[in-house]
Amino acid sequence: MSKKNHSADTGDTAKKEKVKKAAAKKPSLPPKGVSPDDFDKQKKGRKNEGKKTAKTRSAPAAQKKSGRLPPELSILGNTVYQKTEFERELLEQRLASAAGEKQTDRAASEKPAKQGKKDTRRKAKSLDDFDFNYLLSPTSIADMEEGGKPKDRKASKPAQSAQGTQKKKNRVSSPAKTAGDAPSGYRSNHKPVKRTPVRIIPLGGLNEIGKNMTAFECGSDMFIVDCGLAFPDSDMPGVDMVIPDFTYVEQNRDKVRGIIITHGHEDHIGGLAYLLMRLRMPVYATALTIALIEGKLKEHGLPLSDLNKITPGQTVKMGCMAVEFIRVNHSIPDSVGLAIHTPAGVLVHTGDFKVDFTPIDGEIIDLARFGELGNKGVLALMADSTNAERPGHTPSERKVGETFERLFARADGKRIIIATFASNIHRIQQIVDNAVTNGRKVAVFGRSMLNAISAATQLGYLKVPDDIFIDVDAMNKYPPDKICLITTGSQGEPMSALTRMAMGEHRSVTITPSDYIIISANPIPGNEKFVTRVVNELLRAGAEVVYEAMYDVHVSGHACQEELKLIQALTRPRFFIPVHGEYKHLKKHAGLALSMGMPANNVFICSIGDVIETDGVDMKVTGKVQAGRVLVDGLGVGDVGSVVLRDRKHLAEDGLMVVVVTIESETGTLVAGPDILSRGFVYVRENEEMMDEARKLLVDTLDSCLGSNMHDWNAIKTSMKNAVSDFIFRRTGRKPMILPIIEEI
Ligand SMILES: [Zn+2]
Ligand SMILES: [Zn+2]
Repeated sequence: MSKKNHSADTGDTAKKEKVKKAAAKKPSLPPKGVSPDDFDKQKKGRKNEGKKTAKTRSAPAAQKKSGRLPPELSILGNTVYQKTEFERELLEQRLASAAGEKQTDRAASEKPAKQGKKDTRRKAKSLDDFDFNYLLSPTSIADMEEGGKPKDRKASKPAQSAQGTQKKKNRVSSPAKTAGDAPSGYRSNHKPVKRTPVRIIPLGGLNEIGKNMTAFECGSDMFIVDCGLAFPDSDMPGVDMVIPDFTYVEQNRDKVRGIIITHGHEDHIGGLAYLLMRLRMPVYATALTIALIEGKLKEHGLPLSDLNKITPGQTVKMGCMAVEFIRVNHSIPDSVGLAIHTPAGVLVHTGDFKVDFTPIDGEIIDLARFGELGNKGVLALMADSTNAERPGHTPSERKVGETFERLFARADGKRIIIATFASNIHRIQQIVDNAVTNGRKVAVFGRSMLNAISAATQLGYLKVPDDIFIDVDAMNKYPPDKICLITTGSQGEPMSALTRMAMGEHRSVTITPSDYIIISANPIPGNEKFVTRVVNELLRAGAEVVYEAMYDVHVSGHACQEELKLIQALTRPRFFIPVHGEYKHLKKHAGLALSMGMPANNVFICSIGDVIETDGVDMKVTGKVQAGRVLVDGLGVGDVGSVVLRDRKHLAEDGLMVVVVTIESETGTLVAGPDILSRGFVYVRENEEMMDEARKLLVDTLDSCLGSNMHDWNAIKTSMKNAVSDFIFRRTGRKPMILPIIEEI
């Protein structure tokens, strides 16, 4: 049934395209006969085509022969390389199918199409005007010229209705489904042409915040984007962190060409060391991200030789796919989004992003590139949903600097203490800048803060005067109004420097009424309680405390609704997959796409482990792979499973009773005990009476077991456990964990 919807949709598009193409035919004539409008359109789209077509027409055969690139070679950016086996196969397939299709085409349109195709290849010089689709798929340009005829191809496609149910389940239901409701005119520049399918497999980051990880697969190649961690929920006592399940990647280890990291936040790099422990692969990321990854790999004693530094604008080849890095803005410098060039088409992955027109480092998100990709045709967009619920625009990071300026003035005479995220280098830059203009020295607290600042300074992301930072021990040499402290603990983390200061437990900082404290962060959901506790304690110590609710001391690093719409408008994807967020965020983000006129059938809200497959024409969820969470506790990875967690929760909530008896195995007589120990249940000494009764009950239970010649120790243990458990529950209404132990002699 979704097939029907779908063809209705493409049919509509095709109709529009036909009209368009009728007009667009003209440009293939000499420019004289072209209306300015059409000519402009053509110029914007495919600069070289018109000119070249005219040229080739005079000597098509000669041109064909003199094509500079022999068929066994491919070109990527400025690099010419031998075609891989897979690419050669693909090329043959494509040529064969192109030949087949042409027979059914009208003779008139065949020639110019073919020529246009040749020309693009010969013209390709830089990455920017290079057509990756063409590289891998000789039919693509021809198809673009002809509007793709999606209907014919659909007919020749194997039946998809088997997937229909699943597809429907995963698609967004919305009133916009009926054509009448949708704002008319949504059109992606992606030309629906059936090609080698690409599979997108989210392994983390969907229906959750954190542990982002996605696998992209095509033919015999696979690569991964990001490998993050999530922080444990309150229902995971003792767990240090949560990482994605790598099973699927390990099962495909021969296919893996590498991993790309979009930026240096924990939810994107935190799981990487654990992945590389299992499976070595090249890692590609920008300089600051690499520096942060290095720190992690060193901690785990892993080699750094697999790390490859890239800069935005560069492209990395991943087998038959290629990944282009596009600069974006975010709350850590050096963040990138990705254009993933695949045989099926271009996939755009935004990574975490916001649009900041006045970023601290002057590096504005490369909106132009997103637009260029949109003009060439984007098959699918995957975009950050974290702030999809928030209307408007996320303010520029510079806004926080303005607030700091005012607050530094207000804090006159006081010591300033600012807590923020260690990775927010631009925030730190603005604090340092304000300290410099106000003649204050800066002292840094917290290990992660020290690490981030030293890495960022070394790499030049943080520009500070030599003498601005002072040693913590030298602090006392300066009056309060001549120093500024930067510290971790903006989330009220129990072990962080700010929390210890607030609790009066910090070695070198005591909070007094002459402190002016700024918490430059928003509490991550779940941390509100911790932050409130810290704020209360700081206020109790007499300090003045400023936090987000009071002034603009924090801006988000994620795009709000208007920015999300901007990216949609620039890329005009054929399909949309909201990523990075809980279900409510994904749903809201999907709604934004629908409100812009994207057909509901083309929006996919997925779950981790879903195999999302697209062949350039259609997209569907074709299966499920193993995916989930792996808990890390100390050195143990994955050894804390649901049974261990259940026990931990049970122990934490109800405590433990241990019952020990000694039995002579030959005679089956009770030699010693029962002894009862308890932890976290009741204080035994104050409940002697109840414990005596429990002991009596146990003796009776044992007598009846041993009397009836029961020698199965496990069965005896179960009887003991049940007897005590029932008794305790009747007396206290509690259900402690009961652990019977039988010693045999
Ligand atoms: Zn991030
Ligand atoms: Zn993130």
